[in-house]
Amino acid sequence: MKIAIIGAGISGCNLYFNLKEKYNDITIFDKARGTGGRLSTKYIGDKFIDHGTPFLEPHTDELKDFCLYLSSQNILKARYDKFTPKNGMNKACSFLIKKDDFIRQTRITKATFNEKWTLEDDNNNKYEDFDMLLITIPATQLLQMNIELDDDIKENLEKVNYDSRFTLILHSNNDKKLDENLFLENENIEKIIDNSKKYLYKDFSSYVIHCNNDFSNKHNEKSKEEIFEIFKETLSNKALEEISSFEQIPHLWKYAFAKTCLDMPFYYNEKNKLGICGDYFHLNNVEGAYLSSSILSDKFI
Ligand SMILES: Cc1cc2nc3c(=O)[nH]c(=O)nc-3n(C[C@H](O)[C@H](O)[C@H](O)COP(=O)(O)OP(=O)(O)OC[C@H]3O[C@@H](n4cnc5c(N)ncnc54)[C@H](O)[C@@H]3O)c2cc1C
Repeated sequence: MKIAIIGAGISGCNLYFNLKEKYNDITIFDKARGTGGRLSTKYIGDKFIDHGTPFLEPHTDELKDFCLYLSSQNILKARYDKFTPKNGMNKACSFLIKKDDFIRQTRITKATFNEKWTLEDDNNNKYEDFDMLLITIPATQLLQMNIELDDDIKENLEKVNYDSRFTLILHSNNDKKLDENLFLENENIEKIIDNSKKYLYKDFSSYVIHCNNDFSNKHNEKSKEEIFEIFKETLSNKALEEISSFEQIPHLWKYAFAKTCLDMPFYYNEKNKLGICGDYFHLNNVEGAYLSSSILSDKFI
């Protein structure tokens, strides 16, 4: 059985990890440079900045057991009821897959079924002969792919909308502390994550400012640079001075949080062996992504 997985976030990597014991021919594709998806880590030299999900906070035994397993493998560490990464949040994904089975920087744009699956990327490269196709990308991106879907799942995917999230990474090689008080009054900011608390670097500090849904959704058709300029206009002079003493990296997560949750744990069509799973099938968060992909993989093992 030759299996293709599209998407190397937690859903895709967890699928791979569970299926790998039984199936030895699995290829996982991602359009990004590495694994992680929204469990993303930026590298500044040898330092890590997690600018998607900052930590895992399990509410189910399933995710807790997974976090304990990753802790036993030195990928996460337990801090009270949370699990924080030891060397970057994306390692929770890359640890699960074999490098040789990962095809990165490859955006799949088309998938056709004719007894077997053929995939095509945006450079017209073809990947052929897959018996099963498992897709783990956000619903909106899946609908943008050229793939024939049954009406029932198509209608369901069309119901899934996303909140966007504009984030601003601030980092400094001087272990500079951000004066968070200067941002408390800003109504566009949801929270500020202090990455320095996780990694305890001596000569490096980093923060991620998360703007709220209202601000991020309102501007999500603009470029990240344009949104950054608009965001700066909402800051006081002192806050502007404060951020200018850091290196700044703006980022827009267009599909950050699914607003709708489908009323099924995953989709699977036995006829053409097409499976779909991800956070929008369950809970709309990391826990949902983990559970949806675990339940789908249980079907085959
Ligand atoms: C800023 C931010 C903060 C968050 N904070 C939290 C939090 O605190 N707690 C929480 O529970 N959740 C949080 N989330 C949500 C959480 O990260 C997601 O629910 C979860 O990571 C989804 O995992 P996934 O594998 O289903 O999807 P993704 O992580 O989105 O993975 C999908 C992968 O598919 C790839 N892809 C997409 N299209 C294609 C294509 N055509 N071809 C090839 N590859 C493709 C993408 O590059 C991506 O790697 C946050 C999200 C963001 C953006």
